[in-house]
Amino acid sequence: MVRGLERYTAINLGEAVAKFQILKRIPAERAEGFEENLKIHSRLKREFKKLLADSSPKILKEEPAKYSFLHLKKDLLLEMLKECVFCERKCGVNRYETKGFCKCSAKSYYSSEFLHLGEEPELVPSHTIFFNRCTFACVFCQNYDIVNSDDSIADAKELAMLIDIRYRQGSRNVNFVGGNPDQHAHTIAEILLEVRSNIPVVWNSNMFHSEELAEIIEDFVDIWLGDFKYGNDSCALRYSKAPRYMEVVTRNFLRAKDNGELLIRHLVMPNHVECCTAKIVEWVAKNLGEWVRFNLMFQYRPVYKAYEYSEIARRLTGEEMRRAYEIASKRLKNLV
Ligand code: SF4
Repeated sequence: MVRGLERYTAINLGEAVAKFQILKRIPAERAEGFEENLKIHSRLKREFKKLLADSSPKILKEEPAKYSFLHLKKDLLLEMLKECVFCERKCGVNRYETKGFCKCSAKSYYSSEFLHLGEEPELVPSHTIFFNRCTFACVFCQNYDIVNSDDSIADAKELAMLIDIRYRQGSRNVNFVGGNPDQHAHTIAEILLEVRSNIPVVWNSNMFHSEELAEIIEDFVDIWLGDFKYGNDSCALRYSKAPRYMEVVTRNFLRAKDNGELLIRHLVMPNHVECCTAKIVEWVAKNLGEWVRFNLMFQYRPVYKAYEYSEIARRLTGEEMRRAYEIASKRLKNLV
């Protein structure tokens, strides 16, 4: 068992229950107006936390509620689309009429879904669903084809059926990725309402979501598979157009630690070992603990617009990889 992912492992063994399956068994009601529904949400959140602490797989024998806490979350998310603050850009646009920075309307699109064998060992086979679009604009985007197009409509019933099929084929989790999943949180809630399997949910994200979104989605995320890209704000602005990066991402990692299990990914970049890798490792060790699961990744390739930035227009050198590993292994004990 991987330290830090005990609950996830227990779900895989059928000894614990995926959070969304618990949500589906908490009856909810709807009130008039967003604020009133948020109040109901806060009350049910307390009930959920109690249930989560001592949930047994027996709960799966109970029929899901006709209108459950997960329905309420889905409805709140659909309402939030009218003034979108899903991510920290907080465009405030009505996504039923127009699009914000991420170029997403209220409809979600995805590029592919399959059993991924190339994720961290504890995740594979991982049922990855690659949603289109992103809330970042990384000049070195390793998935730029997915991020810059709208491929297939993400139909909730169809994807839920695929999640159940992949589960029977051996998936250990459903891994919502992209691009990024945050801007599709409403669709993901709709999908989960239809899923029957007791499968852990992995939220594979840039960790740039807003607190408003975290409040709703954290109750259905079992593992936060969060990218920690930069160790300072200026690199984040330069390469991803992400403002207030450190403030937002560190806040979200701390909150994620209290609301799920954590697996952090850091893609080491050329010429960024000291300003980013070293700073990230230091912050993680101090604030999330040396036993947090941490994947130090060396597969950076200069793609997309990376050639316009000479300092990142190459692969890593052997010396950079050695130095990054030295930094991480000194402070962190649970490297992938
Ligand atoms: S998800 Fe973020 S980038 Fe997209 S519209 Fe909402 S606030 Fe803007």
